[in-house]
Amino acid sequence: MTKFKNFYSPNFDQIKRRNSNIKYLIYHYTGMKSEKSALKRLCDARSKVSCHYFIKKSGEILQIVPDRYISWHAGKSCWKKDNMLNKSSIGIEIHNSGHSFNYTKFNNNQIVSIKILSNLLMKQYRIKRHNILGHSDISPDRKKDPGEKFPWQKLNSYKIGIWHSLDSRLLQKLRNRKIIKNQYKIFIKFLKKIGFNFNAQNKNNLKYTVKAFQRHFRPQIINGKIDMECFEIAKNLCKKRLY
Ligand SMILES: [Zn+2]
Repeated sequence: MTKFKNFYSPNFDQIKRRNSNIKYLIYHYTGMKSEKSALKRLCDARSKVSCHYFIKKSGEILQIVPDRYISWHAGKSCWKKDNMLNKSSIGIEIHNSGHSFNYTKFNNNQIVSIKILSNLLMKQYRIKRHNILGHSDISPDRKKDPGEKFPWQKLNSYKIGIWHSLDSRLLQKLRNRKIIKNQYKIFIKFLKKIGFNFNAQNKNNLKYTVKAFQRHFRPQIINGKIDMECFEIAKNLCKKRLY
């Protein structure tokens, strides 16, 4: 494994896991104004949070916790039948001030580093493309990161993560168009097939999950409302036989 500069955090479980336990890659943004304070927090024993890797604005990659130890980045989380994803994932924090402080695009240096690091980890631990997720995908009620500006579509072109194969002009025509009741039920099935784990009877839980879906796969509008565009994207993703 390529060696990255260490920036040690004490926040991890003391028991080592097996390589085969590592199944997911989870992306985060730091959500803090300064990179320095974000790093300080991740390395402070009192914060009880950490990650495995930290990608700076410059693109430099720091190793915060070794891969074989469970770092504390995901918290309460679930995806498909897995829950508490810290134990089965590698957490990557990318510095970005986030929604609370003038959320901006991830820069090109960061995107190149995300690509390099993700490729290395996918190979090393045989992580599948559809198990590469954002924090909001696995904790939609609590989290917005890495957010709608995360370059999912671009990463898909490097075979990292998944994306739909629909024409953007066609999709634009479907934006904000209402679905019928029958499609509502089918859309919920699609979301579950993609991997979102939620209670469809709970209106709030469903709304946050739809928002998480939009942040990841339909970043132009995040309103928690299921329209024809969302429906067609979800349908297309389910067709891909990646699951
Ligand atoms: Zn996060």
